[in-house]
Amino acid sequence: MDTVASLPNYEAFCVAAERLLKDGKDRSFAFAAIDIDFFKLFNELHGREAGDEVIEATARLLEKFAKDHGGVAGYFGSDDFALFLPWDNADPHVFYDSLSMSDEEAYRDGFFPSVGIYPVADPSESPDVMYDRARIALNSIRGSFTEHVAVYDAVAHDRMRQELRLLLDARRGLRNGEFLFYLQPKCDMNSGKIIGAEALVRWQHAGRGMVSPGEFIPVLERHNFITVLDRSVWDAVCKWQRSLLDEGFEPLPVSVNVSRIDFLSMDIAEHFLALTDKYKLPHELIEIEITESAFVDSTLALDETIKRLREAGFRILMDDFGTGYSSLNALRYLGFDILKSDIRFLDKRGQSRTGMDLMESVHNMARLLNVPMIVEGVETADQVENLLSIGCSYAQGYYFHKPMPVEVYTQMIKNPYNIDRAPLSQGGEGQMKLNEFLDANMYSDETLNSILGAVAFIESDSNIVRIARSNDRFEKLIRTEFSEDDGLEYFISDLSNHAAELKRMLSIAEMNLVDGCSDLLIMKNRDGDTVRLHIRIFMLNERDGKKMFFLHAEKIEPKWSDEDLWRELQDTQARLSFLRAALNRLPNPIFLKDGEARFLFFNDQYAKVFGMRRSDYIGKTVLDLEYLPRDDRERFQKEDEELIRKESELSYESEFLFSDDASHLALYWSTGVHDKKTDRRGLIGEIVDITRREQK
Ligand code: C2E
Ligand code: MG
Ligand code: MG
Repeated sequence: MDTVASLPNYEAFCVAAERLLKDGKDRSFAFAAIDIDFFKLFNELHGREAGDEVIEATARLLEKFAKDHGGVAGYFGSDDFALFLPWDNADPHVFYDSLSMSDEEAYRDGFFPSVGIYPVADPSESPDVMYDRARIALNSIRGSFTEHVAVYDAVAHDRMRQELRLLLDARRGLRNGEFLFYLQPKCDMNSGKIIGAEALVRWQHAGRGMVSPGEFIPVLERHNFITVLDRSVWDAVCKWQRSLLDEGFEPLPVSVNVSRIDFLSMDIAEHFLALTDKYKLPHELIEIEITESAFVDSTLALDETIKRLREAGFRILMDDFGTGYSSLNALRYLGFDILKSDIRFLDKRGQSRTGMDLMESVHNMARLLNVPMIVEGVETADQVENLLSIGCSYAQGYYFHKPMPVEVYTQMIKNPYNIDRAPLSQGGEGQMKLNEFLDANMYSDETLNSILGAVAFIESDSNIVRIARSNDRFEKLIRTEFSEDDGLEYFISDLSNHAAELKRMLSIAEMNLVDGCSDLLIMKNRDGDTVRLHIRIFMLNERDGKKMFFLHAEKIEPKWSDEDLWRELQDTQARLSFLRAALNRLPNPIFLKDGEARFLFFNDQYAKVFGMRRSDYIGKTVLDLEYLPRDDRERFQKEDEELIRKESELSYESEFLFSDDASHLALYWSTGVHDKKTDRRGLIGEIVDITRREQK
């Protein structure tokens, strides 16, 4: 322990550093703080003695380095070292390498020293401050296996200090009751009447006046403090709704915002149930706004929470729709009641077209999902007119009302003339069909890129699959530029030998017109990286023998290893293919229908007995079965629908005309199926020829 013992301690080191500063007036210096990564762990693994050796080796290295470079080294106990030395803005990594600590034999198993550097900005600063900043730099890489050196970042430090101050201030403000909520009415644009409101938090700061949520919410979220604030807002909103009820006034629903952080820190469903219980509030009076990005964040696993809330009668609003990375993903989540989209977000994307274009696509999505939509940020009469013309009915924006104090709002809604209690309507001319929605020609490039995520339209005939149209996001995902002609080659080769898989997916999409195909694809992109894609494919239409498909791709972050995933995939595919083969071996005709009574599958025997080609009937209903008299078709269709709806069973004996043109006596059996796990409905049926049995 010779060298370690000879190094100056903290006080002596600071004195030496100040002397160097004074002597080298026109030079610049740096204060470096050094420690050994996971040193405690090293001691545990290798014993104290080995630990002491590492400390001694480090001391030797640093002392020599300080001497060679006209600086000073110090040792502050445990594994804390420091250097003070002339600093000419060297590259920190070059500096680290020149310390030659990374190849020293003493540093085994990745227990390297880490260095935090503070280049002295002002020689009059005290060594305490310098050391502090060097430590801050060091802390920024603490626990990192890959980063061993960092330079103090004044901007980051400043931001951290400011954030800390704001957090402390917010805690004080919360204690002092400085946080309150404003209400911004939601209006029916046709009549201008108020249909409800959103509660928006406001900070009536004792010293600074009104502080906007944009300033403090992101900070509170970063430091997990938002939940405390949110709970107090929700409580205040419920309390106020209660007070209206107590006055004998029937309030309108009010929505509150729930941050994604809230979901991580508590059971939201439980909380809202307890809260409404506390104030004896009907659940329809409280609506819950969740931003799109939280909705599609799979790490949050919101499904269950949202389901419980909705079952309890709370309405869920998807906030800021269209701003996420891939809003089409939201289509997977049918667990919300109202869509909210902000016209300003869409405007700000800097597109050549107006936000109205994008708003129309968003509204189309709402129609597709059959949910009402509220447009936020509506400021002008022009916008109102345009929105009404594309079928949007509800808005929340300055054009109608700014957020206002609770008392003002309360006065306003107490005048029955100002309000409308009718339930929200979905708007537009009926529900949209998926086909219509996913039409390749319906969208501008801007919409394709900004709202739909990574998408491609794929055309296929009997042997060629090609990309008819794709967007930037899609190409970026696959890292390939497609052109009209080489689309096939690139797509097939870049989805590296996945042609067969892709074709299989297309055929599944073709057989499942409603749900399409949803599958995993693991491929290598051009950079050689493995990419896991969640692929969804819908068949759109068939024209002149060419089929058009819509493909949506989303990258999934790996949770499983490639091999695991492969195995599971192959397994699933094998099971499905086995199931199909098994059904084809059965002697009786079997069929499966989807929730709208369209054929999903029939086995070989069915095809043979009724002389039906799969390609002609998959995706169709009995209304299309030409060999049935029209009246019978309608009756059968009704029957199918009823079986599906009621999950009931039906069986009867009847004469059937088979493809051998003979009449057969057959037992027809069919039952509605509801898979609760996936909430899919459908029908399975079998036809048993009993002609011969009768004859016996
Ligand atoms: P948000 O939930 O999307 O709320 C809409 C924001 O748009 C509000 O801003 C509202 O005042 C503003 N706004 C509405 N119409 C117009 C308009 O026509 N023109 C303009 N320029 N602005 C309009 P605010 O109150 O500043 O809130 C910003 C965001 O802060 C909210 O966005 C929400 O995400 C969050 N927030 C507000 N209150 C709470 C809260 O209690 N808890 C949580 N977690 N977040 C909140
Ligand atoms: Mg909101
Ligand atoms: Mg919003």
